[in-house]
Amino acid sequence: MTTLSTSKYFKAHSVQDAIALAKAHTNFIFLAGGTDAMVNKQQGTLEANTLIDISDINELNQITSNDEQLIVGSMNTLHQIASHHIVATRFPALREAALSVATPVIRRSATIGGNLLCENRCSFYNQSEWWREAVGYCLKCNGDICIATGGKKNCFSRFVSDTAPVLIALQASATISDGNTSKQILLENLYSGDGVNPHSKSNEQLLIDIRIPFQPSHVVFRKLRPRKSLDFTSLSTAVALYPNQIRVVIGGVDPQPVLLTFDGTHPHDDVIAQCVKKPRIVDNDFYSRKYRKEMIGHFIRESLSQLSNMKF
Ligand SMILES: Cc1cc2nc3c(=O)[nH]c(=O)nc-3n(C[C@H](O)[C@H](O)[C@H](O)COP(=O)(O)OP(=O)(O)OC[C@H]3O[C@@H](n4cnc5c(N)ncnc54)[C@H](O)[C@@H]3O)c2cc1C
Ligand code: SF4
Repeated sequence: MTTLSTSKYFKAHSVQDAIALAKAHTNFIFLAGGTDAMVNKQQGTLEANTLIDISDINELNQITSNDEQLIVGSMNTLHQIASHHIVATRFPALREAALSVATPVIRRSATIGGNLLCENRCSFYNQSEWWREAVGYCLKCNGDICIATGGKKNCFSRFVSDTAPVLIALQASATISDGNTSKQILLENLYSGDGVNPHSKSNEQLLIDIRIPFQPSHVVFRKLRPRKSLDFTSLSTAVALYPNQIRVVIGGVDPQPVLLTFDGTHPHDDVIAQCVKKPRIVDNDFYSRKYRKEMIGHFIRESLSQLSNMKF
């Protein structure tokens, strides 16, 4: 595996342009803010040698709304989203999640599209090339076993986007385009559950926008990490209360965001027990598996307690 390779750089000016460039190159990535992709490229875990910059595509840079939903173009930065008046008033948990990502400077480049499609992480994988070579590589970097689990044939790298749990709790959908047609999918269906290839869309498909329905709901977001100033998540939870439903989404622990739904009167102790049980957690983070499992229980209990005072 090579650490760094010479890159070709293209700037796309329309969705069709970007997808045509993608179809003409085999080893490419779309480049949004570059805050995840360029770090991975530097670290040698991303081998793409063609960069297709999508930052100049107008269609991806807008935020609009109608009576039913807020439509956020995928190239909007986390700073722009956190500063938007509709996000602040209607979706404060999304604002909180966006503001929990990285640092103020990074959030001015980091986009919502890139956040939803950032790479999964693992303490045995996000290492230098020589470190990974010394331990013999793993399933996610051309090796043949999972080191974190001592030899299993599945990868349990962690899904780390902080905005995804809140957006899934809010029942958001994503618009995906292949240049000729666009389709809407529920955001949770953007993820495969496979730690090696965590996204279900094909490489050539562009994420156009995210649509968040205006519905009566209250959402509580929680994030666990060693340092509040900078670190990626070790556990992110979003708990949404609707008039007749509770939606819980757990990130930072399993290869995909884990969604659980309950009717509004479901006993809280059982909600918590199911939330602790469902994610596939292995020891591949700064915090131990046992501690993160315990923290899921605490976060969900606290969130449910906070939501129990909310009125519609
Ligand atoms: C120090 C540091 C701390 C960080 N902390 C956090 C954190 O706490 N939480 C967190 O979630 N992230 C964190 N990140 C990761 C990253 O900054 C964010 O996830 C960011 O939102 C990624 O957006 P981007 O625009 O920079 O994506 P890029 O790096 O440009 O792209 C990321 C991936 O998404 C794909 N992509 C982007 N947009 C599209 C699109 N429209 N269509 C198709 N594919 C697309 C790219 O091809 C690439 O594979 C951190 C990064 C750093 C360097
Ligand atoms: S979970 Fe296992 S296979 Fe996946 S990145 Fe970590 S060590 Fe590699």
